Amino acid sequence: MDVESRVRKEGKMHNKGVSALEEVNAYVFRAGELLKLSKDFIKAFSTSERELIISIPLRRESGGIDVLTGYRIQHSSARGPRKGGIRYHQSVDLDEVRALASLMTWKTALVDVPFGGGKGGVTVDPTTLSVREKEEVTRRWTRTMVNILGPHRDVPAPDMGTDAQTMAWIMDEYQRINGFSPAVVTGKPLGLFGAPGREEATGRGVIGVALGALMKLNKKPSEIRVAIQGFGNVGVYAALAAQEAGMKVVGLADVSGGKTNDKGFNIKEIIGKYKKVSEIPDGKDLSGDEVLTMDCDLLIPAALGGVINDSNHEKIQAKIIVEGANQPLTLSADAALQKRGVVVVPDILANAGGVMGSYFEWTQNIQEFRWPIERFRDELDTRMKIAFDSTWEASLKYGCDLRTAAFVVSVERVATAFKLRGDLL
Ligand code: GLU
Repeated sequence: MDVESRVRKEGKMHNKGVSALEEVNAYVFRAGELLKLSKDFIKAFSTSERELIISIPLRRESGGIDVLTGYRIQHSSARGPRKGGIRYHQSVDLDEVRALASLMTWKTALVDVPFGGGKGGVTVDPTTLSVREKEEVTRRWTRTMVNILGPHRDVPAPDMGTDAQTMAWIMDEYQRINGFSPAVVTGKPLGLFGAPGREEATGRGVIGVALGALMKLNKKPSEIRVAIQGFGNVGVYAALAAQEAGMKVVGLADVSGGKTNDKGFNIKEIIGKYKKVSEIPDGKDLSGDEVLTMDCDLLIPAALGGVINDSNHEKIQAKIIVEGANQPLTLSADAALQKRGVVVVPDILANAGGVMGSYFEWTQNIQEFRWPIERFRDELDTRMKIAFDSTWEASLKYGCDLRTAAFVVSVERVATAFKLRGDLL
């Protein structure tokens, strides 16, 4: 029985025995049903177009050789070149990359950028890699993938465990074979065709949509106490943007631990000085998990997937959750929280500022024309607002939660492109 049927029969969502991809597809099929699309048709445009699994032999500093596994899943090119990050993490596996690739298809469609969806990764704990090892892994990944990448085929970007330097290596390796092509990858360093504004774009977008939701709920930013789980690229810039918008950041967490401060952390000061949450001197210590369930108004999970699940969703106190991470809520936790009236702004909307920023970088690379950061920020804010408004309107039109609404908007766009391209008529 598929997830959607199980959900319907048993009246509740599952996460036991349900893969990450099945969870995403449950949302896709629910949206398809509201749009009155047939299941077969949805399957035709929601199954990965191509999946590549590779071996990456790596000479370790210690002398031995490890053989790592790498992935690139190209989910859809219906609306343009596949687009999506590369994750280096020990949790990376085929199911996770498939689910994340699929989310990229819906994300790029929702924010209406001319891309499809893809995702890649390497199963490795990035903290165990020296700089040389990380470069070797990245170059080998790129060399082995070179025929399926390209500015108009598939354009990687950073994700967990990868950064601007990683993207610079990808660009360099790709160029050795194909010649000058900065648009083959986004999220590059500013000194190598990166775009001013891209680094902060995901966090800025997270707070942009949070402000949109607060306005609809008649709440002022100054009344809002925020907890943020994850202090990487997304969490840091979301914290900064939250403070700039007048909210109080009262909880922070990362792998090193958690901290809470009733008066609100001074994020601007913290960012320049500390890399890990445990190093922040002010505030009370909490565990990372306690930050998720602490007393706050707005919760921003901005790290790994599945962190809000059957073990802790009942303890969540926030009234609004904005998903900075991809898939931070399991299907069952999502259903339970929606039932309790918690407003959940879904990942494909909430963290889409990243890929929107990537689109701006890609377009600048192709035109060989650099925008000032003010233009980047203006375009980002405007287009994120359009995506938020279309999601909100769809939720009113279909009488559904914001996640279902976001999938309705994106599934409709992908279905239309797929249909117009022919092939299956
Ligand atoms: N990894 C980011 C995401 O999950 C960014 C992807 C991109 O910019 O292509 O949305």
